[in-house]
Amino acid sequence: MKIRVRFAPSPTGPLHIGGVRTALYNQFFAKKQKGKLILRIEDTDSQRFVPGSEKYIIDAFNWLGITFDEGPHKGGKYGPYRQSERKDVYKKYVDRLLEKELAYIAFDTPEQLEAKRAEIPNFQYDASTRLSMKNSLTLSREETEDWIAAGKQYVVRIKIEPNQTIAVNDLIRGEVVVNSSILDDKVLYKSSDRLPTYHLANIVDDHLMEITHVIRGEEWLPSAPLHVLLYHYLGWEDTMPQFAHLPLLLKPEGNGKLSKRDGDRLGFPVFPLQWQDPKTGEIASGYRESGYLPEAVLNFLALLGWNPGDGRELLSIDELAACFALEKCSRSGAKFDYKKGEWFNHQYIQSKPNEEIATLLLATPSPCETLQEIANQARTDNALFEKLVKVTGLVKERVNFVKEIWDQAAFFFIAPTAYDEKTVKKRWKEDSAAQLTELTEVLESITDFTAACSEKTVLQWIESKGYPLGNIMNVLRLALVGEAKGPHIFDITEVLGKEEVIRRVKRAITNLN
Ligand code: GLU
Repeated sequence: MKIRVRFAPSPTGPLHIGGVRTALYNQFFAKKQKGKLILRIEDTDSQRFVPGSEKYIIDAFNWLGITFDEGPHKGGKYGPYRQSERKDVYKKYVDRLLEKELAYIAFDTPEQLEAKRAEIPNFQYDASTRLSMKNSLTLSREETEDWIAAGKQYVVRIKIEPNQTIAVNDLIRGEVVVNSSILDDKVLYKSSDRLPTYHLANIVDDHLMEITHVIRGEEWLPSAPLHVLLYHYLGWEDTMPQFAHLPLLLKPEGNGKLSKRDGDRLGFPVFPLQWQDPKTGEIASGYRESGYLPEAVLNFLALLGWNPGDGRELLSIDELAACFALEKCSRSGAKFDYKKGEWFNHQYIQSKPNEEIATLLLATPSPCETLQEIANQARTDNALFEKLVKVTGLVKERVNFVKEIWDQAAFFFIAPTAYDEKTVKKRWKEDSAAQLTELTEVLESITDFTAACSEKTVLQWIESKGYPLGNIMNVLRLALVGEAKGPHIFDITEVLGKEEVIRRVKRAITNLN
């Protein structure tokens, strides 16, 4: 069997991070089974259509590195892949269902439906109520035809027989059985825009596109019995795909579904890319703009709801795909531990070459004008870029996000003009000035200014003089950095270079004495 899976978003706004996880699991599945992954845009609901969503979705996948074999941006022989361009495809199946009397035409206006809802508590359009409604089951054939001819708007509803057992075979949940009486006669088609609803379009396209596995979020599980029924009604039971409903992403606290509000409340994005609402202009933050590496986002998401079972956490997409198994997906929701996402980002920053991180750093806004100028210059000045690469290597273990490197590394480019008061109080002693003056002479004498060599010479000097090692190292750090932070002190001296180190030490002596 040729494996074909699809990710089928509706363009109703930015792609939620849960949707990214769904797409990712589809990709794992396709990769592992050497199958195809299809992107299909389910845009039949014109009420909920939001311009720009499709582009957003494709841009997000491009950034993340999730690739499709077929789709509106790729083409393919099962296209078009945008449902609004497939209008003509669906009508035939609506007619087939009507002919077989597995669906019927209903004329009830929104007002009439509203009145029914007010009259009957928990009103559901189904076998128990349909005969009291305005539809082709209660009107004569002539009346129905006349009404349609007169241009009256109608919908086509599926006719669900009550008290039937419907079984959904789910690769994650096993067999899920429901009684058909709980289902309502869902609308499959609307005459107003001559478009099918999600349910019909989804089934028809999965069938025509030869989809073998439907891997999607748990929120679609309640629709699955209706979908199974549609396969039967359309005579397609033999090609019905296997279902797998993925566990929900839960709030970090675990109580309920993850929402954008949780992200706003706790300070993490729930969308892959920044999104600006075309109506309100409101901006929602994205993983990309917040400084996440795409690999880190994918690795983090991959382990929300599934894991390889051997304790490994840092895995490439290929490694993840190689051990992925739908049967091993969890049935219960996965807490969205965004701190773990930051941890993954930290790990990926460590594992990437310094050069790559420095290049990313140049693309992130710097915290001040001077640094921005340095960044601009480093784009063309090789020596300066090399310095930035080195510095990146020295400080990256202290950051979770690339942009934080600027805070850690600013002193490499901008000499301190002020000194942290607390540190000065604690470290600057009576004899500090004299010792630092002596130190400048020692430094002056060093010809090989590499970390190892300077360290050896300075330590020898300290030992021979019997000076307190800690004190001297701390005031030297204060002189070079301005505060009690930063990487190994001799790594700092190596990058700054002899002249600059001596200049900073001399300046500290003048300023602090
Ligand atoms: N268009 C649906 C969505 O927005 C697709 C659900 C499915 O995968 O069947 O998620």
